[in-house]
Amino acid sequence: MRIFDVVRTRAGQAFPRSLYAETHPAPERVALAGDLRVDIAVVGGGILGLSTALALAERGVSCCVLEANAPGWGASGRNGGQVNSGLKWPPSQVERDLGSEAVTFSHAAPTRLKELVARLGIDCDYANGGGYRAALDPAAMRELEVLGAEFERRNIPVRMMDADGMAAAAGTPAYAGGLYDPVAGQVNPLKYVRGLAAAASAAGARVFSDTPVTAAVRDGDWRLTTPHGTVRADKVLFATNGYSDATVPGLRGSLLPVFSTIVATRPLPEALRARILAGREVLYETGLQTTYYRVDAGGRLLFGGRGPQAPASGPGAAKRLTRLAEALWPGVAEVGWDHGWNGRIAMTGDHYPHVHEVAETGLVCAGFNGRGVALTTALGPRLAARLVAGEDLPLPVTPIRRVPFQPFWPAGVAAVLAWHDLTGRSR
Ligand SMILES: Cc1cc2nc3c(=O)[nH]c(=O)nc-3n(C[C@H](O)[C@H](O)[C@H](O)COP(=O)(O)OP(=O)(O)OC[C@H]3O[C@@H](n4cnc5c(N)ncnc54)[C@H](O)[C@@H]3O)c2cc1C
Repeated sequence: MRIFDVVRTRAGQAFPRSLYAETHPAPERVALAGDLRVDIAVVGGGILGLSTALALAERGVSCCVLEANAPGWGASGRNGGQVNSGLKWPPSQVERDLGSEAVTFSHAAPTRLKELVARLGIDCDYANGGGYRAALDPAAMRELEVLGAEFERRNIPVRMMDADGMAAAAGTPAYAGGLYDPVAGQVNPLKYVRGLAAAASAAGARVFSDTPVTAAVRDGDWRLTTPHGTVRADKVLFATNGYSDATVPGLRGSLLPVFSTIVATRPLPEALRARILAGREVLYETGLQTTYYRVDAGGRLLFGGRGPQAPASGPGAAKRLTRLAEALWPGVAEVGWDHGWNGRIAMTGDHYPHVHEVAETGLVCAGFNGRGVALTTALGPRLAARLVAGEDLPLPVTPIRRVPFQPFWPAGVAAVLAWHDLTGRSR
């Protein structure tokens, strides 16, 4: 069966500029040259592809990762580093929509990441400071209270925060209140994903950079074409998320790639470090246009949210974000900004990650809606078990469905963002 034969992926791109890339030496990039036979091939070297490959290799399965650029080049190596639990919607709705395992699985995901980092000894500045969802106004706070009550009924340990508590934690009086989740944490995402790549290789997975899959054909087994070699595999996982191209028919049209931007200050002076999330907690504001921030291991404020809907880098990448942060903490303007970058998250129509089966022995998993660090980590071993032993997944397997208006991206995204500004549900 022919799946796809058009080459679209731009491969071999330099690592995008970011605080992470500029402060961590890039490992050697090894491209596939020649032909290879494996049991399972993974397309995409982000956290999802690498955590799956690691789990496969640890089960003794022969596998490879084919990455168009370099491990962590996509969202996995440039994200906000927030290790958050749960899915977009409250547990009762997740249970109705996806089943009860999706609830327990997604709330345990940060703990899976913590365990993995400890087991493999990945040096990625991991901290388990917990995380806040912060309410911008009393209406948002009422929604958080309903959510908090639901968590309590389900024995999911969270703590409600009043406005004073949030002001003390975040160092700004901007919030009407919040909800604290103790399992949340933070990582340097590029160090984390490179650590995963090293661990997967050490366990026996072959990890290739600069190796875009330009055609995927299933004819008995799979034949994956790349510029300098071919891979034959019994099964394939497509883990390309917001960077999905036309390799899997319909996949790109089922995802809305939205750019999220991060700006980083120079290291904060001690007084500001002691004021802003001093316990190395992470924070995101509730609402449809999430603003999120944390202070990293080097004492820099990393402030993320909506920015330009095209690749951008440098401290001027999103003036809107720097202005917003300087309004929250006036002292930040004096410290100054020295990094900015962005990357693509993959939104879905229902805000849930999606799993699809293609040509019987191919699996696709994508659509992490900007909260994939913990989820992709935890999904890896489950996808591996599915591929090897047909085990159940914590998410339902669904057909690929086109997102309405997707063809109008990026103009459509800009229109949706403008609409949210008008309705005032976000900053
Ligand atoms: C700026 C930003 C901030 C974010 N902040 C957070 C956060 O704080 N917390 C959180 O939980 N989530 C966050 N996210 C989301 C999170 O980063 C993603 O959900 C997660 O990294 C997705 O991982 P992935 O492995 O599925 O995809 P990706 O990391 O995007 O990897 C996909 C890879 O596939 C490769 N690829 C594509 N096509 C091909 C092909 N044909 N052949 C070979 N390779 C191919 C790409 O080169 C890419 O490297 C953020 C995302 C961005 C962009």
